[in-house]
Amino acid sequence: MMNCMVIGSGIAGLSSGIALHKAGHRPVIFEAYGAPSDGIGGFLTVAVNGFDALDTLGLKGAAAKLGFSTPLMSMYLGSNGKHLMDFEFGGSLPDGTTARTMTRSELYGMLREEAHRRGIRIVYGKLLTTVEESHHGVRAVFRDGTSEHGDIVVGADGLHSQVRRLIDPTSPAPRNIPLLNTGGIVPAGVLAPGLVDVEPGRMKMVFGKRCFYCYMQDPEGRTWWFANPLQRSSEDPSTLDSGARKVWLSKLVAGDRTIMAAIVGATKDIIRPYTTSDFPSIPRWQRERLVLVGDAGHAASPSSGQGASMAIEDAVTLGRSLQGLQPDSISEALARYEDERRTRAELVVEWGRRNAAPKARGQFKRVIEDLVLPAVFRGIARKSEDNFDWVYRHHIEWDTANGE
Ligand SMILES: Cc1cc2nc3c(=O)[nH]c(=O)nc-3n(C[C@H](O)[C@H](O)[C@H](O)COP(=O)(O)OP(=O)(O)OC[C@H]3O[C@@H](n4cnc5c(N)ncnc54)[C@H](O)[C@@H]3O)c2cc1C
Repeated sequence: MMNCMVIGSGIAGLSSGIALHKAGHRPVIFEAYGAPSDGIGGFLTVAVNGFDALDTLGLKGAAAKLGFSTPLMSMYLGSNGKHLMDFEFGGSLPDGTTARTMTRSELYGMLREEAHRRGIRIVYGKLLTTVEESHHGVRAVFRDGTSEHGDIVVGADGLHSQVRRLIDPTSPAPRNIPLLNTGGIVPAGVLAPGLVDVEPGRMKMVFGKRCFYCYMQDPEGRTWWFANPLQRSSEDPSTLDSGARKVWLSKLVAGDRTIMAAIVGATKDIIRPYTTSDFPSIPRWQRERLVLVGDAGHAASPSSGQGASMAIEDAVTLGRSLQGLQPDSISEALARYEDERRTRAELVVEWGRRNAAPKARGQFKRVIEDLVLPAVFRGIARKSEDNFDWVYRHHIEWDTANGE
């Protein structure tokens, strides 16, 4: 049994703690924030590959109770309301489980409860600053002057990971994607009955004249939406107060032939817009007793819809790679984990970047692209439905770890 120090208690950190516990080790999770991040963040979608990985951890049932099923997507142009294409969001698992949209906080809360239930300790207010390595293990040193000794350090510390820097100080910085992210949820009964022109569970994605956005309805009648305005050097919408944010966004969706202006107008708390980033590739994911999981190693653009699912896949692969291992074979096991995960993770990052590209057009290019997009989507439709099977039909067999 190894003592595993997991740095960060986001989706990747909690899932890793649970997977390492399943693998027979003793994980402790150290989080920089002073308290759990309940209620923080917007919403995300867990795709079917994420559910498959959760199933391995015994958590598919609990996760399937969160949020609502979103198996379908439709693409439209905002300028003329033209329908471009319908997609399935990854299909379903054999038991019928589909992609689900949920608040980050719900998913986080479920994983945190589960970690507690399994006796995994989470320590708050512990910001990792450095590590001291020796033949006998590794010491994690925190900003408050304390330190802990263990067998490995798992860097689940997100996009600006300190563990990544400790593994390789030459690791590149995150790559900016010139899109902002914002969104909100309109309670049931606020919008006029029948106004929302999409059935529950279908995401309506719109290439608007000035901004890409998506809205959907849940079975309770709430309207969930996000928008990806272009990031411009001349403005910083993250500094706007809530009222000014509404004015700014209303201007961006005005004139589109959709109901987005009404949705924005009806949203009480619009999420503060923030910038998005990803990583093309980093030189190493692991060194000796240090290893990366989740956004720390391979952040994908939110346009991939895969960040949480990939973090959970990492956790499962790491857990099974370390199952039954003794401390003297850690570095081989971590190298094997990187081998298994790197190609897939990097393909997903590039896929996310390609998904984001058509959203990041100025108004002039938008006009040209509105002429081209219908043909592009007709081409995609012709290429068969299994286009994205490599993303969604991914299964990690827990019992074949270590080449058995
Ligand atoms: C707008 C947006 C939309 C998204 N939509 C989707 C989606 O549709 N589907 C999807 O699957 N994913 C989506 N994602 C991505 C997803 O939320 C993340 O990729 C996923 O949750 C993995 O995060 P993580 O745990 O690796 O990192 P994080 O959530 O960033 O967690 C890192 C944790 O580490 C802590 N930490 C950082 N540094 C230290 C330190 N030095 N010491 C101790 N603790 C530290 C932080 O406080 C934090 O709690 C989206 C992301 C964004 C931004």
